[in-house]
Amino acid sequence: MVAGQLAARGITDRRLLATLARLPREWFLPPHLAHDAYEDAPLPIGSGQTISQPYIVALMTQCLAVRRGDRILEIGTGSGYQTAILSHLGARVWTIERLPDLLVEAEERFRRLRLAHLETRLGDGARGWPERAPFHGILVTAAAPDVPPPLVAQLVLGGRLVIPVGDLSAQELVILTRTRAGLDERRAGGVRFVPLISRLAFGEGDRN
Ligand code: SAM
Repeated sequence: MVAGQLAARGITDRRLLATLARLPREWFLPPHLAHDAYEDAPLPIGSGQTISQPYIVALMTQCLAVRRGDRILEIGTGSGYQTAILSHLGARVWTIERLPDLLVEAEERFRRLRLAHLETRLGDGARGWPERAPFHGILVTAAAPDVPPPLVAQLVLGGRLVIPVGDLSAQELVILTRTRAGLDERRAGGVRFVPLISRLAFGEGDRN
């Protein structure tokens, strides 16, 4: 996976590639899908949600440019795979998930992996985590029609926000950096994510 799907497609961050090589993706999947763990595809994790495609996880993490000790907010804990990667890269991680069943399973994985400097929360991540802000990086692993304003407000100067922005069928990966003058915006290609469910993003009924 690391050589064929990630390094070959432009993931150059060596510390990230080494982390991905050390962290088996099957640990974050329902047991009956373990044999599909190294396909370059999103896979179902229950509750209608998915663990993201490995290349997209790597791309988003590379765009976030995580340094050891950074304070990172992740929105959409899901299986916990992305959270574990951020933690293994030496970040202090705060992660928010809206579905209780997924959060309970992810927390059990975090305990087994003995991840340090990690705090979880059940709720609407589009509002961020103001009590723990500011963050050096915010990673949103669900799609939004626009960037939720509370997230931008919770970035340090120089902090980065990585988020898929678009409609329900397709989005672009947007990378915002907070600068003295405002926000710098970069785009990193097309993606397809499950929706961020929030009054600040897509509502409950939007998928039907
Ligand atoms: N990062 C995850 C992983 O590594 O498995 C993949 C996340 S999955 C693509 C998107 C997740 O975002 C789902 O678990 C979904 O329940 C969650 N989600 C959707 N809207 C949310 C919201 N407003 N707040 C927090 N989590 C949300």
